[in-house]
Amino acid sequence: MMLNVIQQQELEKQQYRFVGSHSAVKVCGWTKNMLRGKGGCYKYAFYGIRSHQCLQMTTAMFCANRCAFCWRGTKAPVSKTWYGPVDDPTFIIEHAFKEHLDLLLGFGGHPHPNQKAVAESSDIRHVALSLTGEPIAYPLINTLIDEFHKRKVSTFLVTNAQYPEKIKDLHPVTQLYLSVDAPDKELLKQIDKPLFPDYWERLLDSLRSLAEKKFRTCIRLTIVKGINDTGHAGYAQLIARGKPDFIEVKGYMFVGASRQVLSLANMPYHEEVKVFAEQLLPLLPDYELVAEHTPSRVVLLIKKSLRGKRFINFPKFFRLVAAGKDIRTKDISELRMQPN
Ligand code: SF4
Repeated sequence: MMLNVIQQQELEKQQYRFVGSHSAVKVCGWTKNMLRGKGGCYKYAFYGIRSHQCLQMTTAMFCANRCAFCWRGTKAPVSKTWYGPVDDPTFIIEHAFKEHLDLLLGFGGHPHPNQKAVAESSDIRHVALSLTGEPIAYPLINTLIDEFHKRKVSTFLVTNAQYPEKIKDLHPVTQLYLSVDAPDKELLKQIDKPLFPDYWERLLDSLRSLAEKKFRTCIRLTIVKGINDTGHAGYAQLIARGKPDFIEVKGYMFVGASRQVLSLANMPYHEEVKVFAEQLLPLLPDYELVAEHTPSRVVLLIKKSLRGKRFINFPKFFRLVAAGKDIRTKDISELRMQPN
């Protein structure tokens, strides 16, 4: 197991379920929200990810950073390289499904469930590979992604930009996220507390690899008020290097273990996040603001060349993947929300 006993207990208290020796699942709060009929997450609103059919998981519990705004806690494991056994991708998927569905048992008994959503929730259609740690570090990540696609499960993968070679070699995913947490080298060190001494070059190389991807890519900025909400020109330069299809500008949320490091005052209001994004826009002439989600304090910028097409055409994505064709953002993106 990648975690020691204390680390395991810490995560179990937070309702994590472990899968094999290095993976974990946890039901997302938005999945529960949707099952209670209270609406989906911002990725539902922005792209059509059905929150009640989404599996939130990771394939690696360690990470090469200790970001100030992370909710994982200071006891969470960090490492630069993989350690311990490497589990089989099919085993991980089958057991992750099982653990997720076990955790959902009992929702039908909720006083006011959305019965349609409860009925659909056993049919997992999306996986968000993020949760905790650095999932891309899993040595068999490409096989795992291919296996998800064979099961018609879309893949959102989040990376903190410290493994550029893994990004370069990555098979197509439905949407690849790269976190850019600061506009310059000094601030990145302060915020992410990276283990790699060449963390800045790794970020720059990761952005270069991102720019080469034809499939859907997104850069996420997490704005921590009073800490990284400056340096617009620096952010714009990094974004220009990564050439993402989408930019999510999101406010830091005062939750979990980050509360020991930051304060409530560091959590920007939605309007402040929007102002930050609007200040960025003149420096990003190829992008426009097309959507916002107030509960998550996030706004969405999209490449103008996509003409507002932000929703995923899932059937087409899976058809192209199965045929071994190139996945191009414009071919699988639509103006309106699509069926699963
Ligand atoms: S996409 Fe992310 S926020 Fe939305 S339901 Fe899945 S894990 Fe939760």
